[in-house]
Amino acid sequence: MADPQGKPVPAPTRETLPFWEGCRRGELMIQRCGECGHFQFFPRLYCARCMSERVDWLKASGRAEVTSFTIVRRPVSAAFAADVPYVVALVRLEEGPTMMTNIVGCPPERVAIGMAVEAIFERLTDEIMLPKFRPRNG
Ligand SMILES: [Zn+2]
Repeated sequence: MADPQGKPVPAPTRETLPFWEGCRRGELMIQRCGECGHFQFFPRLYCARCMSERVDWLKASGRAEVTSFTIVRRPVSAAFAADVPYVVALVRLEEGPTMMTNIVGCPPERVAIGMAVEAIFERLTDEIMLPKFRPRNG
């Protein structure tokens, strides 16, 4: 499935639906194991540490730190031509899990390892809001 510009659109599954519903509310939802307390992202039907199926959903703070990034200058397809240059980054959430995302809200050249960022949500379609991160001030 693609949006009107031709960008790929995530298709929620049984594992990921609570995450996408959270994005629509402006909440970054991650999982915590009811057995061992492990936080995880991406969503799974079991705990990646202890294999327990007692995984609960909770709202993450949305605060994170950039641990790696690259600046994309050549669009992967025509649908992304208007977006370059843009930043693809790995961020470590305050709760521990790492997410791949985009850093927005500042020039790509300002992005740095260790930068404090916070989640925002950008509309892709009527159903899908994409979580992205911007520099956190204060
Ligand atoms: Zn566990």
